[in-house]
Amino acid sequence: MDKKYELPGLPYEYNALEPYISEAQLKLHHDKHHQAYINGANAGLEKLEKARKDNADVDIKATLKELSFNLGGHELHSTYWWNLAPAGKGGGGKPEGDLAKAIDRDFGGLDRFKKEFTQAAVSAEGSGWAVLTYCDGVDRLAIMQVEKHNVNFPPAYPVLMVIDVWEHAYYLDYKNERAKYVEAFWNIVNWGAVGEWFSRVYQFSQPVAK
Ligand code: MN
Repeated sequence: MDKKYELPGLPYEYNALEPYISEAQLKLHHDKHHQAYINGANAGLEKLEKARKDNADVDIKATLKELSFNLGGHELHSTYWWNLAPAGKGGGGKPEGDLAKAIDRDFGGLDRFKKEFTQAAVSAEGSGWAVLTYCDGVDRLAIMQVEKHNVNFPPAYPVLMVIDVWEHAYYLDYKNERAKYVEAFWNIVNWGAVGEWFSRVYQFSQPVAK
């Protein structure tokens, strides 16, 4: 392939999310785990390309399943790095603008939203994610719980904010205490970035006034 998926750089230093996420934890997660999904996604596409060139048979079902898993991993991790920021320097605090209004309207307030998002993250079975999305058809924010990287999330829904609750995301820092890691997340969530993305999604979702 001429063009391949590449590991995006972090928008902060490896130690910038301490004490909530340690340098060692972040480095391992970004450099090794995220990279592995990128390698897997590229390998899946290359396998399909090679089979086409050779006019050879390929197990399409297994290959596409693996490709979906790896691409999901790449995309969710990319969002995760971007929706975090050092505490007090973009991380933590409260949402503003359209996002704050939508959270109030759809969840009855930030505290209720945080409670539901936390429960979605903490209760994900095995490896998964909690995701904030926007349902265009009914004009509402919604929380989804993704298993692995790609299960239980409807196609084409925008991914506004995520938390990774795979053990590899927190085990060095929190051992088996996922709930403590999820609690810490609220100190480093980049509401500004999430709000900016929501405003763009929201703007393009609204019907044009006549
Ligand atoms: Mn991860």
